[in-house]
Amino acid sequence: MPPTTPQKIAVIGAGLAGATCAQALAAAGCSVHIVDKARGPGGRLATRRLEWTDAQGQPRSARVDHGAPGFTAQDPAFQAFLQQGHVAAAVRPWAARLAAGSRPLRAEAGPLQLPVPDMPALCRALLHEGTATGAITTSWSFAADTLTRQPEGWQVAAQGMALPGHFDAVLLALPPAQAAPLLAAHKPEWAQRASIALMQPCWTLMGVATRPSPEPTWSVARPDHGPLAWVLRNEAKPGRDAAAGLVHWVVHARASWSRQHLEHPADEVKAQLQAALARWLGGAVPWQHAVVHRWRYALPATTGHGPVRQAWWSAAGGLGVCGDFLGGTGVEGAWLSAQALLAQMQQPGPGAGAESALPPSD
Ligand SMILES: Cc1cc2nc3c(=O)[nH]c(=O)nc-3n(C[C@H](O)[C@H](O)[C@H](O)COP(=O)(O)OP(=O)(O)OC[C@H]3O[C@@H](n4cnc5c(N)ncnc54)[C@H](O)[C@@H]3O)c2cc1C
Repeated sequence: MPPTTPQKIAVIGAGLAGATCAQALAAAGCSVHIVDKARGPGGRLATRRLEWTDAQGQPRSARVDHGAPGFTAQDPAFQAFLQQGHVAAAVRPWAARLAAGSRPLRAEAGPLQLPVPDMPALCRALLHEGTATGAITTSWSFAADTLTRQPEGWQVAAQGMALPGHFDAVLLALPPAQAAPLLAAHKPEWAQRASIALMQPCWTLMGVATRPSPEPTWSVARPDHGPLAWVLRNEAKPGRDAAAGLVHWVVHARASWSRQHLEHPADEVKAQLQAALARWLGGAVPWQHAVVHRWRYALPATTGHGPVRQAWWSAAGGLGVCGDFLGGTGVEGAWLSAQALLAQMQQPGPGAGAESALPPSD
């Protein structure tokens, strides 16, 4: 990393785009503070713990991947990244068994990739070394709502509580609707572009049900009509726990159906998705526990033109933006956008020649 790179950097958002930036900048000698409004890293690479009481009154729990079910790797650089030691240990190819009558998985995209033992494992692996050495510090449950540019550098705050010190640069690795308000005071043209970037919503039904007999032989179904886009048996994924006698269902509704039902009450959506699953399976599902989750920003609406590998970076302002909506789409798009941002940060910016000293940090 050339010496024009700022030294002390705040990364807002610890999904794959943010974790990728944090890891690379820490490895290049920067001091990185990464924050997320959630309780840990992963973002839409998400796994949730379900808790319920069974018919015998016993407390039970199970974990299900309720965001991206897996992802593909088509770009050679992304494929090479997935082979790197600490990352390779956290990701496995997943030969998903597709149900009869499903839409096919895109064979040209190669096998699905699956972080193990849970979806956030990939982001945890990226942050592991930096947090162990102190090059990366973290703040969880920190929903950044104010960025202030001061002569000493950037301040980042949530609900009036600022992170200690000032930062030479701030990187936003967020869905566009969440980046826009933070950008408005500093880069109104970026805020405008972010606020109109289209993202598709997704209603997700997840839960546990008594395992049917005979047991399904498939792990993934992609119905070709109706409200459901994906039906997954989470316990059939590699490296996942399987509670005895239970199927761990994760069901993603189609984007069009999710958009139509976006503001409907969760109980109503749950009942409709449960009914749709029963119709698709051809019989009632003996649920023990089920909940729904609404993803307002699940995936960027694709242009069909493949990865675009973009990011926004202002060297003069020390402000950058990356994320799947700039990288193309999906997990690979998030990583490609982070790479694009890191590459732009290496370019000498206006008034900052390659020989310039690093901006001061406190
Ligand atoms: C249901 C579903 C299905 C999907 N299916 C696929 C698929 O099949 N294939 C595929 O490749 N991809 C899929 N995806 C998309 C994939 O998960 C995302 O493209 C990718 O994970 C995005 O990474 P990111 O780092 O850009 O953003 P994110 O993972 O969204 O990370 C952004 C982070 O910012 C945090 N944040 C937001 N606002 C703030 C704030 N103000 N302050 C602090 N933190 C904040 C969030 O908590 C989040 O952790 C799916 C996603 C969902 C939800």
